[in-house]
Amino acid sequence: MRTLLALTVGFALGSPLGHAPRAETPAAPAAVKPTALVGEVLFPPRPVLGSDGLQHLVYELQLSNVTAERVQLKRIGIFGDDDKEPLAVLDGTEIARRFSPAGRRGNESAELGGYQYGIGFLHVALPVGRTVPQRLRHEVEAWFDQFKADATMQFGPVALASSAPPVLGPPLRGDGYIAGDGCCDSTRHVRALLPLNGGFRLAQRFAIDWEKLGADGRLVKGDRKQVGNYHIYGEPILAVADGTIVDTRNDLPDQVPGALPDGLPISEADGNFAVLDIGGAFVLYAHMKPGSVRVRTGDRVRRGDVIGEVGNTGNSSEPHLHLHVMDGPSPLLADGLPYVFDAFTVKAIDRAGTADFDRAAETGSPVSLTPLVPPLAIRNALPLDLSVVEWGQ
Ligand SMILES: [Zn+2]
Repeated sequence: MRTLLALTVGFALGSPLGHAPRAETPAAPAAVKPTALVGEVLFPPRPVLGSDGLQHLVYELQLSNVTAERVQLKRIGIFGDDDKEPLAVLDGTEIARRFSPAGRRGNESAELGGYQYGIGFLHVALPVGRTVPQRLRHEVEAWFDQFKADATMQFGPVALASSAPPVLGPPLRGDGYIAGDGCCDSTRHVRALLPLNGGFRLAQRFAIDWEKLGADGRLVKGDRKQVGNYHIYGEPILAVADGTIVDTRNDLPDQVPGALPDGLPISEADGNFAVLDIGGAFVLYAHMKPGSVRVRTGDRVRRGDVIGEVGNTGNSSEPHLHLHVMDGPSPLLADGLPYVFDAFTVKAIDRAGTADFDRAAETGSPVSLTPLVPPLAIRNALPLDLSVVEWGQ
């Protein structure tokens, strides 16, 4: 295989940069090499223990093509620390599912045009027994039209965030709650990368849309246009930790279920909501029932206090509780943090995925559940996508 450097005439620097190492200098400066792709991890990856017993890393890798012509991404290897073996490898097919030019969800492709950038939405589940690495490196192999050649490039290392996820109590009471659009390979929350105030933000990275199943596995009974027919509608919403309310809204009407509202301003996306400062992290509860929000800015709450009820306000197509944790008080202008619940039981999983869950929501038919026998009692983990949960106390 021809190497890129032999071909990167357009990228060659006129003379080597840097200075001759001084005699006393222990470390020589890194060799200067032109690069045809620029790679950067957007936010420090934060590991989280999932309800499958594995540690998960969910983060975004930006790659910018600084050549004038098309690049075809062929392989991305993800390495921990100084490992020789990768933690994960994405082939071209998987890259085409996870990589989005300009970071636009639904626009996935393994190709970048000349002078174009894209965002890879990456997920690594660490193998059982593998300790969480402190750093990640990326190795990207790509075809460059400009050079008529493949090249392999290294990016990183990037340090993982060292803080542990916040430990939360239950946000709801009882049984039959299903974790919609949850971690780590569904796309609506995990890829909700937004360009805001001059930068990218991904506040919803670990968000869950909680809905509730009846005994028959349906989300709703009767007319699907009536909010009150959804099993979760009006359920009490609980403070997940002691803290202080820093923002709320309580005046928006319920939407008619069945479709997302048209033309909603971004300021109304969360509907009626509460933001709870739990010390070092903030919890967003969104889409609450009109008039149900019982807390006001400045109120101190205790874990388990009822703060409102589940509704269908804001950018919502059926009653649900959207919950996420973030590093600042703004529901969108923040980085989404992983979190764990201290006690819950997983009784079943919809292994048929988001399409099955969407079908159940759109038709009123039951979701396709795979029961866990016996149910799995879990402590201090994040419920993964489409787990059916009974809350502990
Ligand atoms: Zn949501």
